[in-house]
Amino acid sequence: MQRNTKIVATLGPASSEREVLARMIAAGVDVVRLNFSHGTAEDHAARATLVREVAREFGRTVGIMVDLQGPKIRVGKFEQGKIQLGKGERFILDADCTVGNQERVGLDYRELVRDVRAGDVLLLDDGRIVLDVVDVHPPEIVTTVRHGGVLSNNKGINRQGGGLTAPALTAKDIKDVKTAAHLKADFLAVSFPKSGADMYMARELMRAAGGHALLIAKVERAEAIGALQEILDASDAIMVARGDLAVEVGDAAVPALQKRMIRMARERSKVTITATQMMESMISSPVPTRAEVSDVANAVLDGTDAVMLSGETAAGRYPVETVEAMARVCLEAEKSTEVTLDREFLDRVFTRIDQSIAMAALFTAYHLKVKAIAALTQSGSTALWVSRLNSGVPVYALTPEITTRYKLSLFRSVFPLMLQYQGDNRETLVRLAEDKLLQDGYVKPGDLIVIAFGEPIGLPGGTNTMKIVRVGEQR
Ligand code: PEP
Repeated sequence: MQRNTKIVATLGPASSEREVLARMIAAGVDVVRLNFSHGTAEDHAARATLVREVAREFGRTVGIMVDLQGPKIRVGKFEQGKIQLGKGERFILDADCTVGNQERVGLDYRELVRDVRAGDVLLLDDGRIVLDVVDVHPPEIVTTVRHGGVLSNNKGINRQGGGLTAPALTAKDIKDVKTAAHLKADFLAVSFPKSGADMYMARELMRAAGGHALLIAKVERAEAIGALQEILDASDAIMVARGDLAVEVGDAAVPALQKRMIRMARERSKVTITATQMMESMISSPVPTRAEVSDVANAVLDGTDAVMLSGETAAGRYPVETVEAMARVCLEAEKSTEVTLDREFLDRVFTRIDQSIAMAALFTAYHLKVKAIAALTQSGSTALWVSRLNSGVPVYALTPEITTRYKLSLFRSVFPLMLQYQGDNRETLVRLAEDKLLQDGYVKPGDLIVIAFGEPIGLPGGTNTMKIVRVGEQR
């Protein structure tokens, strides 16, 4: 059985060895995430090269995502690396402090002092530590500890309810976009965007650097929820970044937001990734909890394109087992996915010729119960549209473009394959597509398939033709 939901795995110390990476790719990783919050540009470039090499060895398409650090506001470092904060204690965030201690710690964003007021609630380390702001007199924010615990170097700070002013793209991010373009990243994830404008700026920077990556907006700020529509319009994909989002909007609000975001993205022909703590316990355990299994399965049932692993594969003890478990859970959940094509299809509004053909292919595939849809595509758009509704039919995207092949690695139910074709003969091209699916074992003689392509063949232009073919019949 082919798995439709894609798996994104973050690379880190636990997954940088060739042998581990090879086993992870064999277990089903579709996209690797290079987290630019950690490590040097050289580390990331070395990992990207290794991924391309190993994927080639396995004959697999593995996309590369660069995830920018963004303006995550963090505390500085401590003399001893960490401190223990107790309930009711006074603790100061001090923009002038260079080395922290039991009484105070530095900040990497001086302007935080201007953004907060007495009465605000600050959440540190993804909400594990909660501080009540009692007084602000620059450069100090004086707080009382509401929930204590261990606070170590460089942990993140959020304000409950959002509203911090830091710009979405920092000087480091601007440099990292160039690195992403240089290492030919297929996806660029922008952290903490608040508006469509933040995404347009990232796109402009990527274009100026000569990159071709699809843009992913990480939805993790309270303000991004209000601006979701314009963020979606300005992006190719969104990530439900549940770690920071839960801190800003409250953890209980996240599950319903996840469903809404996935639905809105699919309606607008955008791609979604569901992220953070999906298999968290597998950082130190070889098996997931029942709750984690349910979480992954529910994301699949919500219609996510991809599920993501963070610490589990970057720094966990069981990176390979985690990918195996996630793949197994996705596969099983897909068997029970409700197919709601008819009702949704009738509500769709589309005016483009290529999109109409994509929808016609999808509708035909669903009703004729064909074995496969073959989309001959340069940009990948046809495959994207066909995959936005769940027809239960796999989409084989046949493309001559290597960059398109990698981008498609993230799309649910889409399986990218390379197909080079010179000439203008329609029958030859259709035969070639059929042969490719036959050779690779995706169909057998007698199977019914739908092929979508653009005519005249060989001229650039959109998909405008659909053909229903019984494999092997016309030879
Ligand atoms: C998140 O906050 O859920 C997330 C994916 O972002 P990061 O891991 O970069 O903090």
